[in-house]
Amino acid sequence: MVQIVERPTWARWERRELMGLPIDLVTRDQVLDAVPELVATKRSHHLVALNPIKVMRAQDESELRAGIRDAALVYPDAVGISWAVRMLHRQKIPVLPGCELMLDLFRVAARERYRLYLVGAKPEVLASVEQKIAKEHPGIEIVGSHHGYFDDADREAIAAQIVSAKPHMLFVAMGANRQETFVRAVEKAGGVPLMMTVGGSFDAYVGAVKRPPRWILKLHLEWFYRLVKQPFRAPRMIALPKFACRVLRLRYAPSADR
Ligand code: UDP
Repeated sequence: MVQIVERPTWARWERRELMGLPIDLVTRDQVLDAVPELVATKRSHHLVALNPIKVMRAQDESELRAGIRDAALVYPDAVGISWAVRMLHRQKIPVLPGCELMLDLFRVAARERYRLYLVGAKPEVLASVEQKIAKEHPGIEIVGSHHGYFDDADREAIAAQIVSAKPHMLFVAMGANRQETFVRAVEKAGGVPLMMTVGGSFDAYVGAVKRPPRWILKLHLEWFYRLVKQPFRAPRMIALPKFACRVLRLRYAPSADR
């Protein structure tokens, strides 16, 4: 059972539970409105995208579960999550794709003149991301960056460098697991007011990986598009029907699920 503890003042939305994890019933505008207040607290906050694959992994991986439970914001990054919330809590929540939220946060950062630190992706992709941000958002100061292919042994040193650069926002674009582990290292080193793990969003931002066509996004078939384009992802997608079955059991036969 997730402890829904007292919420900070900037979190003007409800939080619910989904299979032992928190999920915030939040709109894009609410998140963006909260950012300046959240950053001003100078405390460390992690924004986590929730999708069904992560929910299923968190059932078995205690460290991932703890990371999600400690997150300042857990937003629905996939239609499966908003469906599950509708089934289990009878509440409608919009999907907030992480890559779009990242672009929104760049706009807030430009307006508020925030300092940014970027970590992740291949060196050439990261360089293009920096150039694109500088061109599109001259109000942003990028105080440092590091590609995502460093040795685990260097993790603590890179985390310490980030904290000493005092960014307002840190975006971490590494694969699942690796990016969460990295955020924990930054938290241990002292943290950054807003830390967002963004998966493959740096690649999408600069066109290194093609975003699905709009009609695919509208039909919420991004998972299918990825499956066709990157069939190596198929094994992890076994989690999707398992997630759906679990939600249906919780909804229609909750006692059978214990
Ligand atoms: N990536 C990285 N370091 C790594 C592995 C991946 O920086 O050790 C980057 C990769 O270049 C890409 C992003 O992480 O920009 C997401 O990779 P992928 O889509 O494979 O991650 P996942 O599907 O596991 O979230």
